[in-house]
Amino acid sequence: MLKKLTGGREKLVDYQIQRERMVREQLIARGIKDERVLEAMGKVPRHLFVEEVFAPRAYADHPLPIGEKQTISQPYIVAYMLEALEVSKKSRVLEIGTGSGYQTALLAQLCQKVYSIERIRPLAQKAQRLLEQLGYHNFQIMVGDGSRGWPEKAPFDGIIISASVPSLPLILLEQLDEGGRMVAPVGGEKSQTLRVVYKKSGQLIEEERLHCSFVKLIGEYGWSE
Ligand code: SAM
Repeated sequence: MLKKLTGGREKLVDYQIQRERMVREQLIARGIKDERVLEAMGKVPRHLFVEEVFAPRAYADHPLPIGEKQTISQPYIVAYMLEALEVSKKSRVLEIGTGSGYQTALLAQLCQKVYSIERIRPLAQKAQRLLEQLGYHNFQIMVGDGSRGWPEKAPFDGIIISASVPSLPLILLEQLDEGGRMVAPVGGEKSQTLRVVYKKSGQLIEEERLHCSFVKLIGEYGWSE
């Protein structure tokens, strides 16, 4: 099955070389240091998560379409967000916006369990199938409005929002454990700032990081359609 997925040994090696170059030239060169994040980015076959015609460009330095008018983020942004989340092998993480499942795969490598919510059913189903085919088991995908979070599974050590929000939904912050961290693009419809939020001694600390541009989180505590 994997051979059918990847297109045979030659292509597999070629993609591995592209992946290693991506890690060196796009991530390490720009300051990503977390060894676990770099290792995961060097392993997960990103070319399987994009629309098939874009597979040859999967490791390039930009976002790509994944179907249903949605995109997978540029590798650097994915790595930056994962590094900022500071998760460990014991972490339970909530991901909002499963999309292709690429970041879910990375989180599955880095954490104990990933709970992921996607609004568009066909994307969630495709991601579920691919992640299973790749041998990941420590994840659960739900179809629904992720802006409400997943209270039944809370509290989480990390919450990562892969779509833009006009402001940080309080309902999500309430699902974050003490010491937990949330990473989210916050701002306008076209451009946002990546924010990192964590709880320390019961207080919320907020840091503003990179400028970015994400598709909208559409839902009760996000944008209206
Ligand atoms: N991280 C994903 C990946 O690795 O492919 C890409 C995520 S894409 C930038 C944003 C995703 O958020 C889209 O798939 C979109 O359908 C989803 N989304 C938008 N609003 C949502 C909501 N309220 N709840 C869950 N998912 C939502």
